[in-house]
This record gives sequence, C-alpha cells and structure tokens, in this order.
Amino acid sequence: MAAPDMTSSHDGRATGRLPPLDAVPRTRTVDVARIERAVRDILAAVGEDPDREGLRETPSRVARMYAELFHGLGEDPREHLRKVFTEKYDEMVLVRDISFCSMCEHHLLPFMGTAHIAYIPGGKVVGLSKLARVVESVSRRPQVQERMTEEIANLMVAELGAKGVAVVIEATHTCMTIRGIRKPGSECVTSAMKGLFRSNLSSRSEVMTLIGGNRR
Ligand SMILES: [Zn+2]
Repeated sequence: MAAPDMTSSHDGRATGRLPPLDAVPRTRTVDVARIERAVRDILAAVGEDPDREGLRETPSRVARMYAELFHGLGEDPREHLRKVFTEKYDEMVLVRDISFCSMCEHHLLPFMGTAHIAYIPGGKVVGLSKLARVVESVSRRPQVQERMTEEIANLMVAELGAKGVAVVIEATHTCMTIRGIRKPGSECVTSAMKGLFRSNLSSRSEVMTLIGGNRR
C-alpha cells in the first residue's frame, strides 16, 4: 500500500512545486500591446485583412480577453490559503461543483468543468470560498487538467497540513470537441488523493460517493 505521501514530507512546502511565496514576482502583468500585435499577425497569416471593419477591434478585444483568462499567472494561489482558523473539527470538508474555465496549454483552447475539493483538517480550516479562489487562480493560466488537479491537492497539503486531501476535476476540452478527434460530450475526469484519502479505502470511497452525490 502506498504510504500517505504528505505526512513524510510535510514540513511546510516540501511537497509543492512552487517557489517560496516571497520569491514570486508581484509585477507580472500581461503585455496587452504585444498580444494585439500577435493577433493582428495571426489574422494576416490565415489570409484575413486585419484592417477590415469587422476585425479592426479584434486584436484589442482578444488581448483583453487573454489578460482575463491568464490573470492567474500574476498571483500566487497560496495566498488564498494563508488565512486559516484553528478548529478541532476533523471530519471531511467537501466543496463540490466549483465551476472553472481554463486554457489548455497545448492548443490555447478552453477546457471547462467543475472541481471538487475535499479535505480532512489537521487542526486548520480555511474559509470555503477560498477553495474556489484557489481553483480560480490555478485555472486562469495555461494549464493541463492533470497538473491542475495535482497542484490544488499539493497546495492543500502544504498550506493547511490537511490529514487528507481529495481533488476531483471533471472537464470538457474544446481541443477534443471542436478539432482533432471531435468527440463532443466526452468528459475527462482526473483525481488526486493525498494522505488519508490515499491510504484509507473507506475514506476514499466515502468522498467519491459524496462527490458523485445525487447528480448521477
Ligand atoms: Zn488541448
């Protein structure tokens, strides 16, 4: 059986892949003018006339849209988990159906769906809305679903010292539905189980049942 992979390395952020909070640059902003030039180039490259009426404002619209879709790059998701409360509560906390929209980093096409985050507190709990903020921060950047799932779980372990963390993400990838293999309706499900949810089979099946809920 796999050892709980958090207890062994839980000494702050040994498990996370992120640099120390202080090392994260605060000044990273999106270069909107540069995106505008690039979008103009793309339009010209596909054989369009970027100066025709309908397209004239498109580069700046797309640039603002990218600034919004990638704003997570300018923030550190750990900040949302800094304000914690000391609580004796040691049963599962589950926030289900956190909707998100991210950008597949391979095609720069959106993938969207819902994230479910469960944890068993190790003495520290966090405001429930903060979990949604973590999802927002991690999803608003070029991503792959597998890494996003793992990143959220690792953050919960490293920042909250949770005894168990389960993250399940269900998403539809437009790079699969509108291009390539074109399979509309297909859904990709990923999960990351840490600590008790990994080592304890009944905890794991309990959380999976609760996540499935009465929706299916
Ligand atoms: Zn893709």
